[in-house]
Amino acid sequence: MTSFSDLPIRDDLRGKSPYGAPQAPVPVALNVNENTHPIPDDVVADIVQSVAVALRGANRYPDREFGELRASLAGYLGHGLDASNIWAANGSNEVLQQILQAFGGPGRSALGFAPTYSMYPLLASGTGTAWIAADRGPDFVVTPEHAARVVREHRPDVVILCAPNNPTGTPLGLDVVEAVYDASQGVVIVDEAYHEFMPEDAPSAITLLPGRERLIVSRTMSKAFAFAGVRLGYLAADPAVADALRLVRLPYHLSVLTQAAAIAALRHSDEMLATVHDIVAQRDRISERLGELGYDVHASGSNFVLFGGVSDPHATFLALRERGILVRDVGIANHLRVSAGTEAETTVFLDAMAELAASGR
Ligand code: PMP
Repeated sequence: MTSFSDLPIRDDLRGKSPYGAPQAPVPVALNVNENTHPIPDDVVADIVQSVAVALRGANRYPDREFGELRASLAGYLGHGLDASNIWAANGSNEVLQQILQAFGGPGRSALGFAPTYSMYPLLASGTGTAWIAADRGPDFVVTPEHAARVVREHRPDVVILCAPNNPTGTPLGLDVVEAVYDASQGVVIVDEAYHEFMPEDAPSAITLLPGRERLIVSRTMSKAFAFAGVRLGYLAADPAVADALRLVRLPYHLSVLTQAAAIAALRHSDEMLATVHDIVAQRDRISERLGELGYDVHASGSNFVLFGGVSDPHATFLALRERGILVRDVGIANHLRVSAGTEAETTVFLDAMAELAASGR
């Protein structure tokens, strides 16, 4: 059988593995940090109506500048931002890819603090950007001093700070963002995919944007907003950043359907975000219960929990899957990651963990 490595593929892609979180149809899927609550029926009805109107105009290309969507996203973020500060794409993965296309690329480098989101090195590889994995301190915390030191040492063209960090859940202080920005000459991305799950008084890196034209804050509608299937990620930055990304985006990259659905969902942002409190409560319940069961739980500001003290993560992963529960083996020794589900899903997971702990796993 022909393997892709037998094809005349780029040398730097030969032998690489694609992103591949399992998509098995199980009753309790807690492995990709989705919001497991469905979208409320009245919001679905309004989105469907907007999509139907958009479909009537689908013989034409969509608004290439997605002006209405950018204005809606700016309104949602607040902080005095307007449409010119916003850019969006099909998921924040695509936003990050476009940033690397414009600011990374051959002969350039991007730096992150590992363990961190597994797509960063893959996006770097796809765009021909060298990936530099710096380390973290105890309990996965990044300090401003350490971050500034590694950035000064490696002089990367792009730094990606994940706040809070996936897969560890670790929050990131804004002092780290300031220190990294001051230490670097490249663009600094703060990936706030999970920001809405942080305590309400936790400031966003968006507050640091004024006067920092190389700073980019990326967000997504996939997590707190329960919109993962629609694919809508976005960023806030100086308007010059959007000007740069226009050079690399595909024309009409956001379909009329995506734009209409996202604009309609943003009209209902309070309802779309109504599950955040419950998810945070389930996350804290997971942390507390796993701690009681003797696991080593890491602090989380996101909708998932990383826990250690798992003697054989693969065996525990399989034992849970047998019970219809999917969690994530993120490749950190003796650790697993679980997303906070609904109360019922969380109960199924915690009961299974209690059973496994009782049998010594
Ligand atoms: N950033 C982080 C830290 C993530 O965990 C994810 C999704 N797992 C993304 C970005 C991408 O999300 P999306 O493309 O759905 O916006």
